[in-house]
Amino acid sequence: MGNGFLVVAEHDGGHFKKTAYELLAKAVELAAGAPVSAVVIGGDGAGDLGAHGATKVFTVNGPAFGHYSPEAWVAALQAAITASGAAVVLAPASLQNKDAFPRLSARIGAGYATEVTELSAAGGGVVARRPQYAGKAFSTVQIQSPVALFTVRPNSFPAKPATGGSAEVVALAVDAGAALTRVVASEAPSGDVVDLTEADRIVSGGRSVKSKEGFDTLIRPLAAALGATAGASRAAVDAGFCPHSEQVGQTGKVVNPTLYIAVGISGAIQHLAGMRTSKVIVSINKDAEAPIFGVSTYGIVGDMFEICPLLTDELKAALR
Ligand SMILES: Cc1cc2nc3c(=O)[nH]c(=O)nc-3n(C[C@H](O)[C@H](O)[C@H](O)COP(=O)(O)OP(=O)(O)OC[C@H]3O[C@@H](n4cnc5c(N)ncnc54)[C@H](O)[C@@H]3O)c2cc1C
Repeated sequence: MGNGFLVVAEHDGGHFKKTAYELLAKAVELAAGAPVSAVVIGGDGAGDLGAHGATKVFTVNGPAFGHYSPEAWVAALQAAITASGAAVVLAPASLQNKDAFPRLSARIGAGYATEVTELSAAGGGVVARRPQYAGKAFSTVQIQSPVALFTVRPNSFPAKPATGGSAEVVALAVDAGAALTRVVASEAPSGDVVDLTEADRIVSGGRSVKSKEGFDTLIRPLAAALGATAGASRAAVDAGFCPHSEQVGQTGKVVNPTLYIAVGISGAIQHLAGMRTSKVIVSINKDAEAPIFGVSTYGIVGDMFEICPLLTDELKAALR
């Protein structure tokens, strides 16, 4: 496959994120023997990326790369693409990459497909499937430029178990240029729940939970019983039942879990835009005509105030 693949391996506090392993597994599959490398920005080791299929890991370090800045990230990505000679770049559709990749695309004149959920090999190239119009339609995209950029939704592909391989580590000296912005502080969310954008299971509550107390006593326990992350509709966020960081949708986070449980959420197009590509969608709503049932794998018609506690107890017992 051309000059091979470059995977952007994101990390958090010294650990690689699940997306790094998901993308490496897909890159190895599609590369069919062509080189697969990875780039680590703001970190200095290859970790177990070699065991997951990277033969080379490019690292970019220095004060400018400690926190995300668009100028520094684009310079680092450009340097890694040049050094690897990769024809296909795979990166998670994270908030950082949503900012950096359009700039990178313009900088190097490379075609770019965003929010990809499927990738396959075709005609010596890579074909991507991606949702459009808030998930109402899907397009199939093949990029014609010599370098093709793809940002991929987390949980789109399974990671593969590690093998015994190891990677050569190549430190790149990158001039980040003059930073136009500077991060003065950053705050990590409390608790150890998985971020919504990477969560494999999500339980979301809507306006109908009626209060913060309702959210805390119905939605959070159900999420906890499943080892899931709590999410919400905008109506629930606007009413103050939970913080904006938990909002799913067009003006919230785009999620792609294996399981999405929508509790008392009507299914407005702006909410669907954020969760429609979830693999299994379960909806609980007392209105059998609610639009959310139109995108659901399973639907429960009934009162969430009765169903949620029962479901939470059953799950706790079953998963004990
Ligand atoms: C520019 C713009 C951007 C937006 N961005 C977003 C976004 O990012 N995310 C988002 O979610 N929305 C967004 N919205 C808002 C969106 O249009 C809807 O208003 C919102 O999603 C509705 O939230 P909801 O489903 O919780 O509430 P509602 O639409 O009021 O639905 C409540 C549902 O709960 C059901 N229900 C009520 N009581 C019970 C009960 N006891 N048991 C079971 N079911 C019950 C009802 O039947 C109903 O279906 C946006 C809107 C605009 C204009």
